[in-house]
Parts: sequence; structure tokens; C-alpha cells
Amino acid sequence: VTAAALLGLLTACGQEARGGSRYVPDAGQGSTVGLAMPTKASERWIMDGSNMAEQFEAAGYETDLQYGDNKVENQVAQIENMITKGHQLLVVAAIDGSALTDVLQRASDAGTRVISYDRLILGTDNVDSYASFDNERVGRLQATYLVEALGLDDEDDDTRRTIELFAGSSDDNNTKYFWDGAMAVLEPYFEDGRLEVLSGQTRMNQATTQQWDGGTAQKRMDDLISRHYGSTAIDAVLSPYDGMSIGIISALRSAGYGTESRPYPVVTGQDAELASVKSILAGAQQQTVFKDTRKLAEQAVLMGDALLNDEEPEYNNTTDYDNGVKVVPAFLLDPVSVDADNTDLLVDEGYYTAEQLS
Ligand code: BGC
Repeated sequence: VTAAALLGLLTACGQEARGGSRYVPDAGQGSTVGLAMPTKASERWIMDGSNMAEQFEAAGYETDLQYGDNKVENQVAQIENMITKGHQLLVVAAIDGSALTDVLQRASDAGTRVISYDRLILGTDNVDSYASFDNERVGRLQATYLVEALGLDDEDDDTRRTIELFAGSSDDNNTKYFWDGAMAVLEPYFEDGRLEVLSGQTRMNQATTQQWDGGTAQKRMDDLISRHYGSTAIDAVLSPYDGMSIGIISALRSAGYGTESRPYPVVTGQDAELASVKSILAGAQQQTVFKDTRKLAEQAVLMGDALLNDEEPEYNNTTDYDNGVKVVPAFLLDPVSVDADNTDLLVDEGYYTAEQLS
């Protein structure tokens, strides 16, 4: 199979072909690829798993797709099993980025290649490549949206605004990239006093949300409202993930937000999950960050194919993702900010049908 044919196959799976591939796939054909995904509780990971299975299979590979139910021990057992079954390539979206050192040593001993998918695997030499989105940029897009929606970019407007901050799961390496990206944008407004966090919870470790859980975010938001916001309204909430935004908005709704006299604060999100896109269209959540999982899957197939053919995958970032043992060479895709004005993009790109959004 030639590289052109591989790209053709990916295109046939609804992908945009990226030109200029240097790969000549063949050696890996017929191999089995283990796909270790974190959870089915979020739509995005279901799509990641099925897109990869479809695309690897179209490129001539067998696939073994497993979900860890957000439990580290499940994921470790699944990966062990994949190594025992002799899979030549593992694509892993880690539940806990630091918990795979031992099992990946076994992968390396067995000659299995490893791609870190979306989330960086930490503390091991035994990871070949990293396929993800520009995670820092995700945080910047969320915070830039907040700044503009609150009018903070107008220097003549010295109205003070209130905001509460949420971070993702502390065991996910992406969490600090999202947070740091957002804080880089928000910091000047904290400094000039136009943006205030009435709870005082301004450090990432005060704002993390284990397992990115929506219910946990909802409880924290309930608590923040009842303890720190009496008659003062919350103007914005930085939320790093749609599933959390849904919980946050439920808490706000229970506290009387979402009416003419007390509109919802500006709430961000990530992943363009269907329920959140609908919430945006209904005027509750305001923004999300679209990361096309089909393109990430395509990247993983191209990378995996190169690795199995002993070729160097294409990278566009070989400096930023240090996992504590080595800098893992990466290919980062571009995230896109979505609000009510550009949800059409999701239909135009074929991510959702118009009916799904109506
Ligand atoms: C992913 C996000 C996702 C989050 C929760 C992160 O590692 O990059 O896209 O929202 O996990 O699943």
C-alpha cells in the first residue's frame, strides 16, 4: 500500500487528506493496534475510539479497542493484556499520565511501539510519539473568549467583573496546559483589579476537578455560589470541559441564574460535545473549544504507520512536551473556538448533522 493509498483510505473515512506524507506503509499491515481509551462517560472519547478503529482498519490493521472506565487499574490491566496478545502498537489516552511506567516497560521489552494520544504519558522513556492538540492554546481560547465577552479588552471600561475558575483532573497532564494558557490571558485583569475571584480560589490546586466529573463541578459551583455570592452576580466561569460546564450551569440554574434579571454568566467549555453545543444554541453555555477527533485519529494512524515501518513520523513540535524523562516528539493540531455565531462550522465539517443541532 502506498502513502497515497493510505491517505486515500483515510479520506474515504471522511478525513481531509493531509498532503506530503513520507510514509510507505506495508510492514505494519496486518498488525494489531491496541487502542486504550479512558472512558465512555464522555462523547469525545467514544468518537476518538471509533474513529481510530475505523481508520486503522481502513489502513489494513486490526484493532483492539478498550475503555478503562476512568479507573487506572483497569487501564493498566487492559494494556498488559494487549502486550500479552502481541499487539505491535499501542495508542494510549492515559487516565493517569504517571501510572503507566511499569506497564510501558513491559511494552518496550516486548518491542511494542507506543503513541501517547491526546494526553502526555509521564515518567517513562517508553513512549515514541505524542499526538494531541495545542493544549496551551485551548486555555488561551477559553480565556480570550471570556475577556472579549466581558468587555475587558475595552481599556476605557473599568467595570469590575467577577469570575470563578475551574481546572480539570490533576492526574491529566493536559490540565496544567489548559490552566496556564488561560491564566496567561486573565492575569493582567486580575492585576488591574477589573477581574475578581470572590472565593479567593485562584490556584490550580484549589480548582481541580477529579476525573473531570460534571457532578463534582456542580457541587463545587453550588458551594461557591452559596458561600461567596449573595446579591453579587457571577459574571463568568472558566470551565475547561463541556461535561463540567453542564454541571456548573445546573448549579447556576438552581441558584436562579438564567433569567432576564439574572442572566447566566459567560461559561466556557471544551470538546464541542453535542449537549453543550445545544446548550450554546439555547443561550446557556456560551463557548466551547472544538477539537476534531477525526483529525487526531488520522494523525495517530499516520504516526503509527510510520513507527511500524521504522520510519520517522512527521512532527511539528519537538521541544515543549517533556514527560520528565524525555521530550516526546509531538504533532499538535489546532483547536477552534466555537460560540453561537459559528456552530455552523460543526455541520460544514460534517462533525454533526444539521438535524442533530436543531
Ligand atoms: C482532553 C479534553 C477533555 C478532557 C476530559 C483532556 O485530556 O484533552 O479534550 O475535555 O480530557 O475528558
